[in-house]
Amino acid sequence: MSEPDDQATIVSYKFHHIDTSKCTQCKDFACEEACFRGIYKVINRDSTPKCIVVEDHEDRCVKCHICTTACKFRAILID
Ligand code: SF4
Ligand code: SF4
Repeated sequence: MSEPDDQATIVSYKFHHIDTSKCTQCKDFACEEACFRGIYKVINRDSTPKCIVVEDHEDRCVKCHICTTACKFRAILID
């Protein structure tokens, strides 16, 4: 059975949008490693993983899109 496309799972920051329902299946947490500006942190790694944008770090983003490519679940959208 496929998951319904639930907008409520998208967590929006200023210009980053993360579909955190996808993070729950994640094992490699590639976003955190990929972003050389330290924008992401994956919390609850041992239970229900969830990628968050670190408070006050969002403006460090240079929109290089390395993270959106690295996340194989395509959970990250950047405006
Ligand atoms: S954003 Fe992508 S790489 Fe990061 S925890 Fe979520 S699914 Fe995994
Ligand atoms: S676009 Fe680049 S700088 Fe911005 S969050 Fe992604 S990897 Fe980091």
